[in-house]
Amino acid sequence: MTRCSRRALIRGAALAPLVATADDRSPGRAARYFATHGTYDHRTLAYDLHLAYDPAAGTLDGRAHILAVAERPLHRVELDLARLAVREARVDGTAVRTARRRHKLLLPTPRPIEAGTPFTLEIRYGGRPGPVRTPFGPIGWDRTGDPHDGTMVAAQPLGAPSWFPCNDRPDDKAEYTLRVTVPRGQHVLANGALLDRSTTAATECWTYHHRGPMAPYLAALYTGRFARETWLARDTATGRDVHGHNAFPERLERPARHDLGRQPAMLGAFTGRFGPYPFETYGAVVVDADLDQPVENQTVSVFGRNHVDGRRTWETLVAHELVHQWYGNSVSLRDWRDIWLNEGFATYGEWLWSEHIGEDSADTIARAEWRRLAAGPQSLRIADPGPDRIFDDRVYNRGACTLHALRLTTGDDRFFAMLRGWHRAHRGGSADTAAFVAHAGRSSPAATEPLLHAWLYEKRLPPLPAPA
Ligand SMILES: [Zn+2]
Repeated sequence: MTRCSRRALIRGAALAPLVATADDRSPGRAARYFATHGTYDHRTLAYDLHLAYDPAAGTLDGRAHILAVAERPLHRVELDLARLAVREARVDGTAVRTARRRHKLLLPTPRPIEAGTPFTLEIRYGGRPGPVRTPFGPIGWDRTGDPHDGTMVAAQPLGAPSWFPCNDRPDDKAEYTLRVTVPRGQHVLANGALLDRSTTAATECWTYHHRGPMAPYLAALYTGRFARETWLARDTATGRDVHGHNAFPERLERPARHDLGRQPAMLGAFTGRFGPYPFETYGAVVVDADLDQPVENQTVSVFGRNHVDGRRTWETLVAHELVHQWYGNSVSLRDWRDIWLNEGFATYGEWLWSEHIGEDSADTIARAEWRRLAAGPQSLRIADPGPDRIFDDRVYNRGACTLHALRLTTGDDRFFAMLRGWHRAHRGGSADTAAFVAHAGRSSPAATEPLLHAWLYEKRLPPLPAPA
């Protein structure tokens, strides 16, 4: 997600129920942020979602088939699902009576499930989906201004339960299949590759598959009518072609094509810096709605119509969301407290793009941002900003300055090799700040640990090293 000043206005008091740690029974874990979302009792291998959406009525009829593995002996399975009603549920094929507790869906197991044992869940559910109330405002499934009754999903960080039952942790990553039926004439866009479109007289079913793995908050679905374009980019790390696809409201086709037009060049530049593009495809979707900020939904980032003007005014955001595909999506957060690993990296990617196209260098931007940070309150540890501050501007800018300080200390060759190594080591997985500090230390003979400690764990702003 790109920074958002609205985030800074959230009052900490509203967050109190979400930072409780009583349900985090996982031994040895630090208290995590938003501990009422997700569980460590199981991990998910695959979601197979069959959805039928009626845009006229605004109703969703869903069947979720979930394959998961018990992480400890289970007598009941806990999922996150908001607003929508459950009509029927089965655990390992046996019908069970579910219970709801706020946004939790609880499924008793017909017999105890041993740790390490795979199991299946089938949940028939539905209703009128919509954004869920979170400390960051209403987030998740939403309708757009598309005259064909379009919908969108922008779920970061807590909105995934607005449209499917899930284990809503940023580090519970799985494979996804989405089969979505809409009235004929509507389009469906989702994560990964479009495998199939099948039509009846009145409906069309679109099937997408994304082997991911992907965190629930990055799963996305867009419906409505879109103009579309495809593009091809060269992955400079592997030499392979990456097939891209964009979608936008028909009336914004010209400016959107222009504003998104340098994504192939971005992908070429970033694969040179970060290593191979991690997924099978990439694209940008512009929805017919004003969004506070774009969101890096995996393989299909979403932008608002307000981010398109035909003059590339918001091109840094286009770069930002693409960088998240490596840092944030392929390498996920262990916990939301590690958010600087997403946002510091994506912000630094904006600066690298500026440098790449011959505008301000990353060093020039870093020094300007450092001066701004120095003039503001130094009251945040970006490695643990607090749940009410995960989208604070300082997480973004000081995070990016941290990477620049590391670059100046180690030199370009070691720095970019370190970034590539970080992605290679954790591709498809999750990682935390301590692992990054250790990785940077192994990648360089310079004393990077004291430098990173000062930038990440202390409130006082360290000096930027002298230019290389
Ligand atoms: Zn971001």
